[in-house]
Amino acid sequence: MLSEFELISRYFIRQAPAAPSVALGIGDDCALLVPAPGMQLAVSSDMLVEGRHFFPGTDPVLLGHKCLATNLSDLAAMGASPLGFTLALALPAVDETWLAGFSHGLFSLADQFHCPLVGGDTTRGPLTISITIMGQVPAGSALRRDGAQPGDDIWVSGTPGDARLGLASYRDELVLPDAFRHYARNRMDAPTPRIALGLALRGIARSAIDISDGLAGDLGHILTASGTGATLQATMLPRSPALAAQADTLQYNFALSGGDDYELCFTAAPDQQEAILAAALASQTQVTRIGTIDATTGLRIVDAQGNLLAPALSSFDHFKS
Ligand code: ADP
Ligand code: MG
Repeated sequence: MLSEFELISRYFIRQAPAAPSVALGIGDDCALLVPAPGMQLAVSSDMLVEGRHFFPGTDPVLLGHKCLATNLSDLAAMGASPLGFTLALALPAVDETWLAGFSHGLFSLADQFHCPLVGGDTTRGPLTISITIMGQVPAGSALRRDGAQPGDDIWVSGTPGDARLGLASYRDELVLPDAFRHYARNRMDAPTPRIALGLALRGIARSAIDISDGLAGDLGHILTASGTGATLQATMLPRSPALAAQADTLQYNFALSGGDDYELCFTAAPDQQEAILAAALASQTQVTRIGTIDATTGLRIVDAQGNLLAPALSSFDHFKS
């Protein structure tokens, strides 16, 4: 049986080239990070608990990816670039096959986003993965939730609803053809943190949030923080081919209420449309304009003719817990 220290050094300490922002990494009582001059530190934590946030027996490689991806997504939503993260791990037992897979998934994403692991804690307990991520953003330019203004366009990245479609497939709520099943489950298991888009939107977007609990609900946080309302055009919602193949009501419901997409929802003045399309191109991320911020509070979801859709939609999601 590995000791705690053997476990840490075998699976979580690597001889990676030191990042310039890390003055001291794993091994001392604290890590020492060095934000660049004029930058603010952006800090966020996310916890994943087995049975609550992921199915027991989930592939550890995917889990390693997802737990860091959700944290990177929070940095993306603030327009922050990664500095490093800490990992607090509760393990029911030392399972080296699990640890090897988890560490592989975790470090693949950490390397891709230049986000080194700088410390953590390891203990015995029900499988729980808690990451605290740190990033930096120029003072005053973070993309906050409280910056939306009436008249702003509302935009979303990617094709929300896909992760919910993947969950529906895992739960046998519906049966998808092979290619769609593979695609949708992968969007749920391995979300893409939109770091490059978040960085490109600095100075352009007025507010932003990442979609973890569903587009309508997360946009609602922007509306509350900004003291505004919004009108969303359901027909403008971008849908993947896999979601577009489903019944209309299910498409809208998954796109609006499905969680786990980790796409960005953001608002910007209408005169920023060209700048946003350029940011999307530069970050190779699809973005779609889906509605408008209003002075009247509340969220209105309308069809192409402007008829309200929301009541029918919100009553549809039998699956939402
Ligand atoms: P302390 O007793 O000071 O909390 P620990 O013995 O828990 O220190 O950890 C020793 C070192 O290993 C620390 O630098 C800590 O940050 C690091 N560490 C512990 N667990 C992990 C982990 N799961 N991932 C990365 N680093 C870890
Ligand atoms: Mg400790």
